[in-house]
Amino acid sequence: MSVDNIIKVLLVEDNEDDTRLVKELLSHDCPGKFVIETVNRLQEAIEIIKQEEFDVVLTDLSLPDSDGMETISRIQESNSNLPIIVLSGQESESLAMKIVQSGAQDYLVKGQGDGYLISKALRYAIERKRIQEGLSYLAQYDSLTGLANRNLFRERLGRALIRVDRNKSLVALMFIDLDRFKNINDTLGHDAGDKLLIEVSRRLEKCTRDGDTVARLGGDEFTVILEDIKHVDDAAVIARKILVAMEPAIKLSGYEVFVTPSIGITIYPLDDTSVNNLLKNADTAMYRAKERGRNGFQFYTAGMNTRTIERLELEAGLRRALKNEEFVLYYQPKIAIDNRQIIGAEALIRWQYKKLGLIPPLKFIPIAEETGLIVPIGEWVIRTACKQVASWQEAGFTDLRMAVNISARQFTDSDIVKVVLDAVIQTNIEPQHLEVEITESMLMEDTSINISALKELKEHGIQISIDDFGTGYSSLSYLKRFHIDALKIDQSFVRDITTDSDDAAIASAVIALGQSLHLTVVAEGVETEEQLSFLKKQGCHEAQGYLFSKPVPAEDFAQLLQEEKASQSHKLVTQMA
Ligand code: C2E
Ligand code: MG
Ligand code: MG
Repeated sequence: MSVDNIIKVLLVEDNEDDTRLVKELLSHDCPGKFVIETVNRLQEAIEIIKQEEFDVVLTDLSLPDSDGMETISRIQESNSNLPIIVLSGQESESLAMKIVQSGAQDYLVKGQGDGYLISKALRYAIERKRIQEGLSYLAQYDSLTGLANRNLFRERLGRALIRVDRNKSLVALMFIDLDRFKNINDTLGHDAGDKLLIEVSRRLEKCTRDGDTVARLGGDEFTVILEDIKHVDDAAVIARKILVAMEPAIKLSGYEVFVTPSIGITIYPLDDTSVNNLLKNADTAMYRAKERGRNGFQFYTAGMNTRTIERLELEAGLRRALKNEEFVLYYQPKIAIDNRQIIGAEALIRWQYKKLGLIPPLKFIPIAEETGLIVPIGEWVIRTACKQVASWQEAGFTDLRMAVNISARQFTDSDIVKVVLDAVIQTNIEPQHLEVEITESMLMEDTSINISALKELKEHGIQISIDDFGTGYSSLSYLKRFHIDALKIDQSFVRDITTDSDDAAIASAVIALGQSLHLTVVAEGVETEEQLSFLKKQGCHEAQGYLFSKPVPAEDFAQLLQEEKASQSHKLVTQMA
């Protein structure tokens, strides 16, 4: 409204008596509250509306140059934001209805009521219009980010498809989901999560052209409609642009947060022609992008639907697996490099699923992580591993250390310290015999949460090691902040250690780094004697790999231990003899 709440009214009325009456009533009953400008033709009204700002229009329907509902619609055309009140010569229920349906806010009957009534009608009309506008905005836009919402997105997509048919070009639909957004929300709080979504929206908008639509469907799900593209490749170019745009850190409550998107893309009319199916395709492709390691994009292909069914089946099976006791732990020995003795084991989960046989963890752990099932599964792993330590001790192997792998979600979605300590207490083992393995990438992503949990675990005597080391980008100073005991060189470096000089250099550097920080260095995936002797020369402490043993069931591991003991006593006997 204009200054000092003075309401500026445009009165469109060709009858001078009516004009005078309205003015007099308002200035008598509400002096100083209204400024009234008068015109007596619709054309004049339209011109003045374009030049000046009014708060409300009060208009007669029958003017010299216009009549009936057309008067209302033409005023709306010239400015759709203006509230309109109709001055009607007669009282009629059906006319009143028509007037309001045509988009006017109210109507007044000439010669009825006083200045107060007119004043109230004017104010209400302004308020009503504002609420209407707000509602229609809410119905189409996402209030957090200002992006199009699901409704407007569907409408725009529908229209884009029609337009493109005429131009014989393509429309690309992208479905974008932020990787691990839930973690950020849970750890830094919803306000931070909101800020992040706003920043992401801004970056997405920067990657698109004017005619394109960026929408937020809810949560951390975004869609982009690229209209009128010539080649499928054009969509890939934008997808890459989006990945790059998301790279810079976002500052949230004092933390630098990195966000990566997974993008699914489908093309109209190549993949499908209906809005619903296109959305489904893009969603499926997005899941595929996530499976392939996140922070990437993936075009939809017809084969994907069957994969999704497979995935859904795995997910359903996974939900029942714990209850049905379908999980088993395999154990892979960890060897001290200097004397080649077993010093412990890493517990590696397997899923014995009737339908599909023994399923390796890489096939189901990602699904367990996404669905949150990793929390109860992880608890089972920790408990079972601790029980195993207890039973080794009973059998006389009292010095073995058991390592378990822990996922990020076990830190964010459960009280991991309590879970671990409970298991240790219940199985009555020493905490020194338990080790948790977390990946380097977890440290990078969830700094704030893990640091205190790790510290607590460490204070209770639990060992901590960093898995897949070398694949992330930890710096020295960074590592020092965590209370860790060991680094595990990722097997991708070990594999070509004797043939690829880069890998050899990285492995040597990790070993030197570990030594300088007084950490134990473990090499993963050692398969040959050559690899082992290289590692030994560099001063690596421990090794794990097929050279010594694959991961094996508990009975077989016990067998390995017995054999080792037997050969040691044999050695002892021969030495004594
Ligand atoms: P990881 O923790 O890095 O485990 C090492 C993986 O390397 C294991 O694969 C192991 O079987 C394999 N491996 C060991 N020695 C060799 C070798 O000499 N050559 C080759 N090529 N491979 C070797 P696996 O058992 O398939 O496990 C894969 C990953 O799944 C693990 O990687 C770990 O990240 C995850 N995982 C396994 N069990 C669990 C679990 O209980 N909880 C969680 N959260 N993750 C688990
Ligand atoms: Mg591991
Ligand atoms: Mg590893």
